[in-house]
Amino acid sequence: MKDLYEVLNVNRDATQDEIKSAYRKLAKKYHPDLNPDDKEAEQKFKEVNAAYEVLSDADKRSKYDRFGHAGVDPQAGANGYGYGGFEDIFGDIFDIFGGGFGRTGGFSQRSRRNGPVRGADLRYDLNIDFKDAVFGTEKEIQIRRMEECSTCNGDGTKPGTHKETCSNCNGTGEVRYAQQTPLGQFVRVGTCDVCQGTGEIIKEKCPTCGGSGREAKTKRILVKVPAGVDNGSIISLRGEGEGGQRGGPSGDLYVYINVNEDAIFKRQGNDIYLNIPISFTEAALGAEIEVPTLEGIENYNIPAGTQTGSEFKLKGKGVPNLRGVGRGNLFFTVDIEVPSNLNERQKKLLLEFSKESGEIYKEHKKGFFQKVKDAFN
Ligand SMILES: [Zn+2]
Ligand SMILES: [Zn+2]
Repeated sequence: MKDLYEVLNVNRDATQDEIKSAYRKLAKKYHPDLNPDDKEAEQKFKEVNAAYEVLSDADKRSKYDRFGHAGVDPQAGANGYGYGGFEDIFGDIFDIFGGGFGRTGGFSQRSRRNGPVRGADLRYDLNIDFKDAVFGTEKEIQIRRMEECSTCNGDGTKPGTHKETCSNCNGTGEVRYAQQTPLGQFVRVGTCDVCQGTGEIIKEKCPTCGGSGREAKTKRILVKVPAGVDNGSIISLRGEGEGGQRGGPSGDLYVYINVNEDAIFKRQGNDIYLNIPISFTEAALGAEIEVPTLEGIENYNIPAGTQTGSEFKLKGKGVPNLRGVGRGNLFFTVDIEVPSNLNERQKKLLLEFSKESGEIYKEHKKGFFQKVKDAFN
């Protein structure tokens, strides 16, 4: 086991700054990105990191000073130098280099693009009728989505054949490019473009999917539309989106609700609004009128002397709350229809009514409208 001070090439009484500076120098020197495929450099790099991990920590350093390796890390003997804290130090190194390096260099398989991929989410726009939105409904929809190819089970190979290891990257999915920079030659690690990082090549492609491992399928799905949905409501169906790849989960399906307008009812939140025409007599004398509601006709007594534009409320006759508790209200406004095309008797009765009301009724001056008419002819 090497002495940690020797590894960093510092004195036993070195300050934290000296240790840090020595570490940075050595970490840069042995960094795997700068020493591709150099096992010795990689080993040195690990040693430097492990030494720094101990000596940069006052507590660990003091234990190391007193007890040696046994005082610091029980794992140290088992695997040479521990990897503890490695990621943190790794980040530190990238700070030294000022970025520009992929974090994939040397160590990991992280850049390989052959891991599971979640399927894409899908959107479906669903038109429903006003009352279906109020009371809920079930609709069967058809979507077309990418799923695992049923011929090759997502493998992409022709049945009976197998994938081969990519010879360009020897199955690693990565290739290294030398790059000249002011600091010297650096090595950049990139994805192998022969196999797109999968490390494998399909020699004979599946005839169904052409090697993609996926095929478009049409699926019928029953969408349960809950009572109380409105324009813009979104129903999400977990796992009904496109299929995942290489064992990844499926995406989700989002059903966007569009509610068709109704000829009678208008909706605002969970409340319903409508207008009802009533006669002059009904308004004046009060009457039992018929009010259309979401569930059918209901009778309602409007009082005598009701003015046009008056609003009435039917409590709890609105839209059920989407969360399942309570309902909105129904509001109706009365429009008084002025009688037209009166016969002689109706006119006479109205004049009598007017006189009885103390109204001084003046008929149009005869000839006035005639004159206006003439002017336009
Ligand atoms: Zn296939
Ligand atoms: Zn390759």
